[in-house]
Amino acid sequence: MKLTFARLGNMHIAGKALFEALGIDVVLPPPPTKRTMSLGSLYSPEFACLPLKVNIGNYLEALEKGADTIVMVGGIGPCRLGLYGEIQRQILEGLRCDFKMIVVEPPQGRLDRVVRQLREIIGPQPITRYIRALHLGWSKLASIDTLEKLALELRPFENSKGEVSFAFEAALKCIEEAGTPKEVTSAAENGQTAMKSVCKKTDSDKPRIGIVGEVFMVLEPFVNCEIEKRLGEMGVVVLRSIYLSDWIVEHVVKDVFRILRKSKLPYELAKPYLCHFVGGHGVETIASTVDYAKQGLDGVIQVAPFTCMPEIIAQDILPTVSKELGIPVMTLVLDEHSSGTGVLTRLEAFVDLVRMSRRARR
Ligand code: SF4
Repeated sequence: MKLTFARLGNMHIAGKALFEALGIDVVLPPPPTKRTMSLGSLYSPEFACLPLKVNIGNYLEALEKGADTIVMVGGIGPCRLGLYGEIQRQILEGLRCDFKMIVVEPPQGRLDRVVRQLREIIGPQPITRYIRALHLGWSKLASIDTLEKLALELRPFENSKGEVSFAFEAALKCIEEAGTPKEVTSAAENGQTAMKSVCKKTDSDKPRIGIVGEVFMVLEPFVNCEIEKRLGEMGVVVLRSIYLSDWIVEHVVKDVFRILRKSKLPYELAKPYLCHFVGGHGVETIASTVDYAKQGLDGVIQVAPFTCMPEIIAQDILPTVSKELGIPVMTLVLDEHSSGTGVLTRLEAFVDLVRMSRRARR
């Protein structure tokens, strides 16, 4: 079996380590490029949301590299994610690709279901091997999130443009090569030191902007035109509302072990504006915006794929949140036609506005 899965930010590093520690060959799709986007857009329905198109591009490129089994996560709720497994299967079968697709559905409190799905991918393995693999994969994921968070804090203070990103990429490479959780920890510590060493004093007052929106758009720099890096290089401290390790704890671990209570915070924060689940991250988008306004951030940017239903609902509500809580909010709706230059122009305009509103408030 040569297993592949779609890319999502730096998740592939942890995913590859997990499956390889379980003895499975992993063929990663190459990092997404314009070709990935073109392939995905060519073979997907026009009004499908961007994650589906990019995933199709990922799968086609991974199949070209020799992958024969695709793993993807399923979904439930009002948005289209639940249909994606079947749609993607049909698109790839229509292209006469030779593959097997395994859709891992949300556990919904059924541990037996998770075990069955894992066995389908991995086959019978001693429990100790599962534990070791999970430990290694999780330590990589958590370390990557720590470094990403640090990069967002440090970028506005770097000595010269690009130095933090360079140190961050080098640290990611070391984490990728690490073979044990201990090596991962040491790679992450060295990475943090290297990133801090290329920055000047970090306590000066810089504008702070929060990023909210659909998980794929927030986490994948290729599709969001690297907005975090661009904002950081404009001298803005970025706070991101979603990290993959938090998402896994909230939506996978707590969904398997239902004795661990899911956080009610997003619903409580969003309640005055949106009081029920609308699929995807619609509620979290509103809740994080409210939270950022309460923390005194200077602005919020919502990133959403064109035609994403939960984010369209949130987009309609955000002007009210912005007006009532006095926080500037901008929505970036992106698709395969979006260009980095267009996004940069909008970011520059928004950062100017945020700086002016800070001055006015003071
Ligand atoms: S949340 Fe939005 S982008 Fe994601 S699958 Fe659902 S409709 Fe598509």
